[in-house]
Amino acid sequence: MRAHVVTFGCQMNEYDSHALQSELAAAGYSFVDDYREADLVLVNTCAVRGKPVEKVQTLLGELRKEKRRRRDLTVGLLGCLAQLPEGRRMGEKFAVDIMLGPGAITEIVPAVERGKYRSFEFRSELQFYSPPPPSGAVSAHLTIMRGCNHRCTYCIVPATRGPEVSRPAADIIAEARALEDAGVVEVTLLGQNVNSYGMAEGTGARRRGLSGYPSFAELLRMVGRVGIPRVRFVTSHPVNFDDRIIEAIADTPAVCRYIHLPVQSGSNRVLKRMAREYTVEFYLDRVRRIRELLPDATISTDIIAGFPGETDEDFEETLALYREVRYDAAYMFIYSEREGTPAALHFGDVPREIKVERLGRLVDLSKEVSLERNRAWVGREVEVLVRGPADEGGLLVQGHTRGNHVAIVRGYLSPGIHRVVVAEATPNRLYCKTDASQSFGSDARLYQLTSKP
Ligand code: SAM
Ligand code: SF4
Repeated sequence: MRAHVVTFGCQMNEYDSHALQSELAAAGYSFVDDYREADLVLVNTCAVRGKPVEKVQTLLGELRKEKRRRRDLTVGLLGCLAQLPEGRRMGEKFAVDIMLGPGAITEIVPAVERGKYRSFEFRSELQFYSPPPPSGAVSAHLTIMRGCNHRCTYCIVPATRGPEVSRPAADIIAEARALEDAGVVEVTLLGQNVNSYGMAEGTGARRRGLSGYPSFAELLRMVGRVGIPRVRFVTSHPVNFDDRIIEAIADTPAVCRYIHLPVQSGSNRVLKRMAREYTVEFYLDRVRRIRELLPDATISTDIIAGFPGETDEDFEETLALYREVRYDAAYMFIYSEREGTPAALHFGDVPREIKVERLGRLVDLSKEVSLERNRAWVGREVEVLVRGPADEGGLLVQGHTRGNHVAIVRGYLSPGIHRVVVAEATPNRLYCKTDASQSFGSDARLYQLTSKP
């Protein structure tokens, strides 16, 4: 039997798709790149914004046509969207055979055996499930916890992924060791809020730890000792990003000094309406501490433009915060109303043209700041994890630095870790050479002229 898996959304979904593929492979499935050649098509979905939901809908439309041509084709709608009323309606409309929520993915084999199957449970065995290492990969994900206890008013994740559940540390370490044995040189620890790993129910800075679990800071040190040269983690919530975590990063050479610390807004009024549980002052104190203990760390963030009720003044405060922190990179989103969230139920949306205009100003600022930050790396030696040929072709390979900059290196370097020298910088790329005497030549400029911003 041949399967094809389509993955939308975040790294946790990629990890879950890898788990699904591992289960299917053990049950005898092989995998094909073209869904027209598959007997089983699984769509692992994201529901965090309207855009990925629209993409799923388009794909399900195509799969319905394919099903009409081939009656034996089985289609599954999995993941976050499947868990929601919106997804269930879509599943019915497009006549999908299997629907599994993100907490029920371990049921995939019985589901395909039965042909018609639905489960939206958060199954406890997922807490103890470890997929085998991906074959031939230099980089891998490792989910350390699932779900989210926060209730950010814009966010659908607590509804799709349920409350926080941490995996046992011994399982995480065993999985990290298996990844190292398989040749993985970079592991990214995943969770919606990894900083609250091993904590009891609730939220906030003073949460108790669960007995038998290390704190996230301790877990970082433990994973750092496994021997994988690069350890990363996403996502951090500012409320739980305490000094012990910063100290663990400073003390553990394997842990990359790259911190993704979503702020969402630079206005206290908006942060309160978002129920983010911190103030701008609290956030800036976390950044100050990072800069003190990890002066060479890169910091990125998530920002939502046009949250309901956001005024011009609020937005100016976000721009001011951006200038103050001087982020290396940012993931910026237009607010997208999600059915059933408190923001959708209680707040009126900002007109789209205002949201688009604000996003545009934010993107312009981020490019200006990133260019300034990236130029500071020119002439310095950096470590790049090369993944393969660069997207734009030529005699170039592509990878990323420990600080998570996209790096383009001139020459044929094999996948793996290399030391190179930064020759030129753009807002979203570092152009590197393998020895200091080499010049990057015209490729960087040509690429800058032809690439999309
Ligand atoms: N757990 C992480 C956190 O607390 O920052 C991130 C989870 S969420 C999947 C990733 C990002 O999507 C968020 O940081 C937020 O910026 C963005 N996001 C979530 N809901 C959104 C919405 N309704 N509209 C626009 N962006 C949204
Ligand atoms: Fe969503 Fe907030 Fe939880 Fe992040 S912390 S997943 S933004 S509810």
